[in-house]
Amino acid sequence: MVAALLDRLGVDSSLYQQGDHAVHSPIDGSRIGTVHLEGRAEVEQKIARAAEAFQAWRKVPAPRRGELIRQYGEALRQYKAELGELVSWEAGKITQEGLGEVQEMIDICDFAVGLSRQLYGLTIASERPGHHMRETWHPLGVVGVISAFNFPVAVWSWNAALALVCGNPVVWKPSEKTPLTALACQALFERVAKNFSEAPAYLSQVVIGAREAGEALVDDPRVALVSATGSTRMGREVAPRVAARFARSVLELGGNNAMILAPSADLDLAVRAILFSAVGTAGQRCTTLRRLIAHESVKAEIVERLKAAYAKVRIGHPLEGSLIGPLIDKPSFDGMQRALEQARAEGGKVFGGERQLEAQFPNAYYVSPAIVEMPGQSAVVCHETFAPILYVIGYRDFDDAIALNNAVPQGLSSCVFTTDVREAELFQSAVGSDCGIANVNIGPSGAEIGGAFGGEKETGGGRESGSDAWKAYMRRQTNTVNYSHELPLAQGITFD
Ligand code: NAD
Repeated sequence: MVAALLDRLGVDSSLYQQGDHAVHSPIDGSRIGTVHLEGRAEVEQKIARAAEAFQAWRKVPAPRRGELIRQYGEALRQYKAELGELVSWEAGKITQEGLGEVQEMIDICDFAVGLSRQLYGLTIASERPGHHMRETWHPLGVVGVISAFNFPVAVWSWNAALALVCGNPVVWKPSEKTPLTALACQALFERVAKNFSEAPAYLSQVVIGAREAGEALVDDPRVALVSATGSTRMGREVAPRVAARFARSVLELGGNNAMILAPSADLDLAVRAILFSAVGTAGQRCTTLRRLIAHESVKAEIVERLKAAYAKVRIGHPLEGSLIGPLIDKPSFDGMQRALEQARAEGGKVFGGERQLEAQFPNAYYVSPAIVEMPGQSAVVCHETFAPILYVIGYRDFDDAIALNNAVPQGLSSCVFTTDVREAELFQSAVGSDCGIANVNIGPSGAEIGGAFGGEKETGGGRESGSDAWKAYMRRQTNTVNYSHELPLAQGITFD
């Protein structure tokens, strides 16, 4: 099944039938490929080729670079079904989420095509007569992308589409848990680039490897920007190493996202939003709803309604109509069980969270999503457990609710459900949520590509995707031109 998909997507079978690293599907634990894990020397060779590609690509006019991305977007449209299904097999996403991930790739390609004609600089008023100033943006250099298992293709495309229209080659190290989808994206790219005369060889490359391969990208002085998505633990290692060589990083790390449920909230809307954002992708989104901060007057009712909704959600094979697929692997399941134990020890009342379908899938890890009523925001609640656990905490005063929202180390996404305009505005004000994303009457997950995506504090501070996130992939230059016959100095200095 997976081999047939890879074949249709144009992946050479030698890339997934040889090697020492087995790739297993989280759906049933079956082996779906074996890949060769590349070491430092192989990564360095790819970086050298990318550096060479940069010399040519930076000279291609940006709208032509955009045309390559337009064609790539067309290829994605053509192969959306195959790539989406492959995402399901490799990352365990349900059909719609696999397809949705490919749709995000298509959307960012469209965005990047438009952007390729809008890499605008500024003109700036000069204080000197006969002078003008301007700000221009130039290609940066090789962009290294390190990505996590849970968005195996979209995150790369957010980076690659922008990096490429900005004039940079890309070297991508996907998660070692999801190398096959990366090989498929690369095969599609090569198919398009082959017929695009201005595209130099090695404009986009994939490095299949584990942490060591990532470290090779992080340490190499030829990599101008490292865009790394994954755990805060990973970011803590990557950030100082990139900073030590004065290169740039875009860090997209862990989240611990909350919803404040106010007394005036539309509870029907809230139940649907909570269900999607707490349970979708089996709780394995960086923007998954992990903390429900509910007003004491609505807390009991919302918990009852959620328990009823949770009990009806179909758990099972993600390609067969379920809403919750598997966790990625056993360590993930063990981590969830440890967190639930800790929650109980900290006074939590646990509903759900048990392993499911063990007889049918002895080598895969399906769970019922958990709701945990907590007496307060204790240690376990402040930690991101990458599984479907929703902690519920009560509040009385809206300011206290905002304080709880902000009192965790992570700062990715947040939301409030209220029909009180004062609460809504306060939540999005300077004294409101401290997260990179703050929504009203919509859950914390499922961001559109038009906005800048990323978060504060231990989420890393990076921004990807829409708005002006492209500026991270270019170098800024300030230009002053003297078109007079004088040489006036700035700040009124005379130097005769
Ligand atoms: P992970 O940190 O285990 O791995 C992520 C990637 O980093 C992998 O490719 C891995 O090989 C690589 N890596 C690990 N250590 C490294 C090192 N020292 N140097 C270089 N590379 C290294 O994360 P994961 O389990 O794959 O993904 C889940 C995590 O990712 C969660 O914490 C989730 O919140 C986060 N995430 C964040 C975002 C975001 O946009 N903020 C998006 C998706 C996932």
